[in-house]
Amino acid sequence: MTDPTITDLRRELEKARLALIDAQSHLSAHAQANAALHCATEVFYSPLHAKVTAAIAGIEHALARTDRPLPTLDSQSSDGVWAALAADLDRCMHGRHQGDACGDCGGTSTGNHHIRPGTVIGYGLRGDRIVMPDRDHKLEPAAWRATPEGDTP
Ligand SMILES: [Zn+2]
Repeated sequence: MTDPTITDLRRELEKARLALIDAQSHLSAHAQANAALHCATEVFYSPLHAKVTAAIAGIEHALARTDRPLPTLDSQSSDGVWAALAADLDRCMHGRHQGDACGDCGGTSTGNHHIRPGTVIGYGLRGDRIVMPDRDHKLEPAAWRATPEGDTP
């Protein structure tokens, strides 16, 4: 299991990587055609070709770095068990995280109808509110203690 934000970012990076590979292919063919047009013995690739190549390498490095489970969801530690439980609280009744694909919800998971993001679900020792955080912050313990906008703690 991975943080849905990282999953989303990885998916978008993969799309960008594929588009850049196509751009790199076009730029390579263009440089080779120019060399042939001018009867040159060497192909000179453009600075843009170098930038695109570097961007592809950067994306591949980022994808490799994020291709492992988050330590907070490690089921071997008690913290990981609680983090996994908290991460499950936005799932719809069909088991899909809010915003993920769910055919039973009509295409996109509508999430947990019992506790919507921003709902107060309890109180801390000093009366501070415990709220259901939004999808992007559900793995940050501080987000569960956030007060509603405009409210002073
Ligand atoms: Zn669903």
